[in-house]
Amino acid sequence: MTPRLRSGRTYHDDSPWPHLDLGPHDDRRYFEQLIKAIFQAGLRWPVIESRWTAFGEVFHGFDPVAVAAMTEQDVDRAARDPRIIRHHRKIADAVASTRTFGADGWSSVRAMVLDRIGGPLAVRVVRDPDPPPGGIVVQVLATGMCRSDWHAWAGHDEIRLPHVPGHELAGVVSAVGDGVSRWSVGDRVTVPFVQGCGRCRWCRSGNAQVCPEQEQPGFTQWGSFAEYVALYAADANVVGLPEAVTFEAAAALGCRFATSYRALTGRARLTADEWVTVVGAGGAGLSAVMIAKALGARVIAVDRNPAALAAASALGADHVLTADGSRDIPGSVLELTAGGSHVAIDAVGSEQTCADSILSLRRRGRHVQVGLLPPVGGHPRVPMARVIGWELDLLGSHGMAAADYPGMLALIERGELLPQALIERVISLDEAAALLPTFDTAAPAGMTMIDPRRSPQPS
Ligand SMILES: [Zn+2]
Ligand SMILES: [Zn+2]
Repeated sequence: MTPRLRSGRTYHDDSPWPHLDLGPHDDRRYFEQLIKAIFQAGLRWPVIESRWTAFGEVFHGFDPVAVAAMTEQDVDRAARDPRIIRHHRKIADAVASTRTFGADGWSSVRAMVLDRIGGPLAVRVVRDPDPPPGGIVVQVLATGMCRSDWHAWAGHDEIRLPHVPGHELAGVVSAVGDGVSRWSVGDRVTVPFVQGCGRCRWCRSGNAQVCPEQEQPGFTQWGSFAEYVALYAADANVVGLPEAVTFEAAAALGCRFATSYRALTGRARLTADEWVTVVGAGGAGLSAVMIAKALGARVIAVDRNPAALAAASALGADHVLTADGSRDIPGSVLELTAGGSHVAIDAVGSEQTCADSILSLRRRGRHVQVGLLPPVGGHPRVPMARVIGWELDLLGSHGMAAADYPGMLALIERGELLPQALIERVISLDEAAALLPTFDTAAPAGMTMIDPRRSPQPS
C-alpha cells in the first residue's frame, strides 16, 4: 500500500508535519478501517486529516496547534481506541493486499463501468467497496463473462447507473463486515450468482436461489468486473474453495456450470443411460454436456456454431446436430433416440431453442429452461399442446444455492468434473470492456474469463 503524501492546499498546509489526507467522507467504518490500516502498516503519520469531525475526539486533529503538539503516545492511544481495535485483524491483512490510494486520497480500485444502457464500457478507478453489515469484500482473481452480462448491458434487467457488471467470481476475502462469523481475510472463496438473505424460509431450507430478497452482484448491485467486489449475507452465501480448485475453475461455477449442474441433478433428476438433448453449446450448454457425461447419460448437443459443436464432441457428446435452419432438430433427435430424449435443456433462451428442446423430448420427458428468456418483443410462444398431450415437465433452473455446492465441489476435487476445461481464454478488464457489447452475437465458443490483475494501471 502506498499512502499518498499530499502537497496541495489542505487544512493543514501550515502544519510542519507530513500528513495523510483521507478526504471527505461520512462513513465511520471506512474511516476506522483506514486509520487502523495505516497503523498496522507501521506508519506513524503525525497528522491524519479528515473532514469528518466526529473523529476529532481522538485526534483533536483539526486545530493545527493541537496537531503539532500531538505526541507518539497520542498516536498510540488512537491505535488502541476500541473503535479501531475492533477491526484489528481484518485490516492488518487488508493492508497486505494490493489496494492503493487514488488521486483523491481515497483507497480506490479499477472497475468496468457502464454509464448508459447500451453505451460503451469504461475501465476506471472507482471507490473501494466497504463490506456491508453481514457481508464481505472479495479481491476478484477470476470472473467469468456470460450472456447475462450482455442482457444487463442491453437494458433487459433493471440496473441502476452507473453500474459495474460481473456475477461469476472467485477470489480472496479482503475485508469482513460486522456480524460475519464464517469468513476471515485471506479465505479463498466463490459465491453463487444469486445470493439469498439467509433468513427467510427459502434460504433456511437450502433454496437461496429463489430467495425473495436475493441480491445478484452485477445486476442488483455492483458486480465483479473490478478488482474488488462487496458481497451480501456472506455467512449464508459464500462458499469456501478447496485448495485443489483453482480460482478460474471456481469462477466458472457461479452461474452457468452450477446452474447446469442443478438443472440436471436437482431439477431434471437425470439418471445414468438416459438421453439428454442440450440445445446451445455455449458456457452453460458445454457445462451440461460435461456434467451429463459424468452422470453416465447419453448426450446430443445442438448449436449453430460448428466450433461449439466440436467442443461438445471433445467433452464426450455422443451426437452433435448443427442448427443451420434447414434441419429438423426435434425430428433428428427423435430418430437418434428412438422416440425422444428423456431430458432436454434450452441453454440459450430463445423461442426457437426453447421449442427445439421441448419438441425433442419423448413422452413424459423433462425440459429445463436454463437460458434466460427476457420478455423482449413479447413473451415467447411455447408448444403447450405437446406439453399437455405428452405430459412433459417444464422446469426452471435459477442457479444453485451455496448449500448445494459441496457435492459439486467434491466431484471437481476428484477430477470427475473439470470446469476449467471449459475456459477458452483469459482476458483483461480492458479487453472485456471492448468484447461485452458484442457478446450476444459474437460470443466465442467456451468460457471467457477475466483476470482483473491483468489490467494495466491507469496512467
Ligand atoms: Zn432469503
Ligand atoms: Zn453468468
